[in-house]
Amino acid sequence: MRKTIVAGNWKMNMDVNESENYIKEIVASVPALPATGSVIICPPCTSLSVAADLLKNSVLGLGAQNMSEHDGGAYTGEISWKMLQSVGCEYVILGHSERRQNSGETDALINLKVRKALEAGLVPIICVGETLNQREEGRTMDIVSTQVNGVLDGLTPSEVSRGVIAYEPVWAIGTGRNATPEQAQEVHGRIRTLLSEKFGEVVGESVSILYGGSVKADNVADLIGQSDIDGSLVGGACLKLDSFLSIVNSSIKQGK
Ligand code: PEP
Repeated sequence: MRKTIVAGNWKMNMDVNESENYIKEIVASVPALPATGSVIICPPCTSLSVAADLLKNSVLGLGAQNMSEHDGGAYTGEISWKMLQSVGCEYVILGHSERRQNSGETDALINLKVRKALEAGLVPIICVGETLNQREEGRTMDIVSTQVNGVLDGLTPSEVSRGVIAYEPVWAIGTGRNATPEQAQEVHGRIRTLLSEKFGEVVGESVSILYGGSVKADNVADLIGQSDIDGSLVGGACLKLDSFLSIVNSSIKQGK
């Protein structure tokens, strides 16, 4: 059975004090989860340490928003797997479209990061998704397939089974315009078929595929009601605890 996962990507929001307040409240508000549900928060790296302390003994998971492909050394501004591991992270978002756009991350680079995360025992939440132009040109499936093939290149079925994929159409991120459940399901179904063809049906059926892009309390139920949508990666709507909790509640209730 696939896990229903709700992950909050805080992006570059919330200082340490704000993080502390938010996390204290969310820990108190989500005291238990079914075995098939996971809720993960991904604060900025400056809040990871305080988050890890506050999340001890809670049911919530902790993720980072990026990680270097290198082990350590002269890489100013970067964060290594070892640092994430030592602070208590279990997950790391990789290949977010904002990093692809703003920092020039390619599928090949993301593939190196995914390998490193898996070696370190971190769960990569690997983002793929087409731009508006690409969708309008009818290239969505080609683009997403190329990204999935690229970021998972050379991985074994057992490695792939330890990861999570997030389908995030770039045109839906932060725009208030989410993919319709049918549009999202079509791409999720394609990703799952691709995983099954490349890594075997057991892997295809076991990997959680999250949808991300303007997920809100009022659209999450329809999205997660689709057969190949196993949860969501939430940006803007996770910053307000009430709306994140509503998303968590509707998602985990529908856990499949
Ligand atoms: C994201 O940043 O991963 C995201 C999906 O953002 P938003 O929910 O704001 O569209």
